[in-house]
Amino acid sequence: MDELLSDKVAVITGGSSGIGRTIAKTFAEEGADIVVADVREDAREGGPPTHELISEETDSEATYVDCDVTEPDDLEASVEAAERYGGIDIMVNNAGIFRGEDFLDVSEREYDQLMDVNVKGVFFGAQAAAKRMVANGGGSIINLSSVAGLEGTGEYVTYCTSKGAVRLMTYALADKLGPEGVRVNAIHPGVIETAMTTDDVAIVGTEEGEMYEQMIPSRRFGTPTDVANGALYLASDLADYVTGESLVLDGGLTNT
Ligand code: NAD
Repeated sequence: MDELLSDKVAVITGGSSGIGRTIAKTFAEEGADIVVADVREDAREGGPPTHELISEETDSEATYVDCDVTEPDDLEASVEAAERYGGIDIMVNNAGIFRGEDFLDVSEREYDQLMDVNVKGVFFGAQAAAKRMVANGGGSIINLSSVAGLEGTGEYVTYCTSKGAVRLMTYALADKLGPEGVRVNAIHPGVIETAMTTDDVAIVGTEEGEMYEQMIPSRRFGTPTDVANGALYLASDLADYVTGESLVLDGGLTNT
């Protein structure tokens, strides 16, 4: 079978670690050239930087751009970097952070930090990509929301607020950009095994986590590959009629 993303160019924010890293590698294996846009070049979980991994293990080209998604100029520069491969076709607004402060204690600073990365970063990432995509006649934008963008959870109100905003932003952008040939979709992962869920929220590998796993119809947490495969579908021409959609990748948890 032909590669699904041959001749495509993708920019992936937060592509150095976890889900973004696996999306980058998966897209490269399917023929795309990749711009990894992140605040750190090395993976949180260790191993070679993503762009080196791609150069070593695939036939695609890849580069790293130092990009803080809270800075619109950095996002512009990341999209600009895709020009060296022929220009952006796919934008994955994946960079995100998790913090679980109690709602009654969240400070304005903590709120701003989380919303700046998780919402403002996606908004201006989409804008930077869309400018080029509209001029070039089309593209695919994929935004990482969460099951926390579908259901309200009192344990992490700020995170839910940010991921719910990403969901509605996705639908509004699909409406705005559809006539220009730009598809915009959201992915809503459940618990995925990355540094975010082993370190930042510490659920994977804990007793509480094991109990939680038993509530998931698939009886396991997700892997970054589970999410990357969904992203691959949305990025590819197989999803040519899919826009303004939420792809829930949670082993069946949300609907059961
Ligand atoms: P991760 O912490 O493993 O990786 C996140 C990457 O984003 C890191 O490389 C980090 O350096 C980068 N990043 C953080 N702040 C940034 C910034 N300001 N600018 C640029 N890059 C920045 O996290 P992950 O688990 O791979 O999560 C990826 C996305 O998926 C996030 O949006 C997260 O909210 C979402 N998500 C994760 C899970 C999960 O269970 N892991 C579930 C649902 C949604």
